[in-house]
Amino acid sequence: QWIYLNGKFVPKQEAKVSVYDHGYLYGDGIFEGIRVYSGNVFRLKEHLVRLYESAKSILLDIPYSLAEMTEIVAETIRRNHLSDGYIRLVVSRGEGNLGLDPASCLRPNIVVIAEQLALFPAEYYKTGIPIITVATRRNRPDVLSPQVKSLNYLNNILVRIEAKLAGVQEALMLNEQGYVAEGSGDNVFIIKGNRLITPPSSAGALEGITRNAIMEIGAALGYDVREELFTRHDVYVADEVFLTGTAAEVMPVTKVDGRVIGDGAPGVHTNRLLAEFRALVVKDGEK
Ligand code: PLP
Repeated sequence: QWIYLNGKFVPKQEAKVSVYDHGYLYGDGIFEGIRVYSGNVFRLKEHLVRLYESAKSILLDIPYSLAEMTEIVAETIRRNHLSDGYIRLVVSRGEGNLGLDPASCLRPNIVVIAEQLALFPAEYYKTGIPIITVATRRNRPDVLSPQVKSLNYLNNILVRIEAKLAGVQEALMLNEQGYVAEGSGDNVFIIKGNRLITPPSSAGALEGITRNAIMEIGAALGYDVREELFTRHDVYVADEVFLTGTAAEVMPVTKVDGRVIGDGAPGVHTNRLLAEFRALVVKDGEK
C-alpha cells in the first residue's frame, strides 16, 4: 500500500510525520473521507471544495490548487489499484514548536490514504441498527462551524464511545438547545408521512455530501424535503429514521433509545432511498 505524503508516495510502514506536527499536538488540521466506487470517486469536487473551505476557515493554506489535489487523489487511487474503497485526506498544520501559535509551522503535512473499505456488514442494511442519544453535545455552530471537518473530533469520538458502552454501534448527538444535530460521523433523517426531514446546519449538522445526495434524490422522488429542527420525541414517533454518510451510505435505524421505529424493520422509503443512492453512485461514475 502506497501513501501519498507531501509530494511522494511512500510505503505504509514509512508514512510517518513528526510528533511536533500540530495536528498531533493540538488537533490542528482538517480532513476528508471520500468513497471510490468501481474506480470512480464519488463527488470528489464537493469533498475538495469542503476541504478548501475548512482550510480557509482555520487560516490553513493548502499549497496545491484544487486541480492539483484532484490529481493527487487520482494518482493515489491508481498507485494502489483501488477499485472500491475509501480515501482519507488529511491536511495538518505541520511541524512546529510547542505552543498553540501555528506561526512556526512552515508547511502543512498532506497525507492521502487509499484503502479497501471495512464496510458495515451487509446484514445491517437488511435489519437496520438500534441507536441511542447520548449526553455529549455538538459544538455550538456559532462557535465552531460544523462545516469545518477539523482534526478536533473529540465529541464525535465520545459519542461513539458512549454508544459502544451502551452496546450499540452509533448514537445521535443533540445540540446545546437539545435539538437533534447528527450522529458521530453521519447525518440523520426522519420520515413522517411525505416529509423527509434533516436538521439544518444551524442545528450543528455537517452538510454531508451523502446528505445532499439524499436530499436531491428525495426531492426528485417527490418527497417534501426539509431542513428543520427536530427533537428526540420527533425521532421516536417518526415513521422511519436513517443515517447517511460516506462510510455508512444510507443506514436504516430501527430503534432509538429503546423506542421501536415503525415496525422495527427498515422502512420502504429508506430502502428506496438506499437503492436510489446506490444507483446514483454508479450513474455518477458513468458521466
Ligand atoms: N457528520 C459528521 C460529523 C461527519 O464527520 C460526517 C462524515 O464526513 C458526516 C456527518 C457525513 O458526511 P458525508 O456524507 O459528507 O460523509
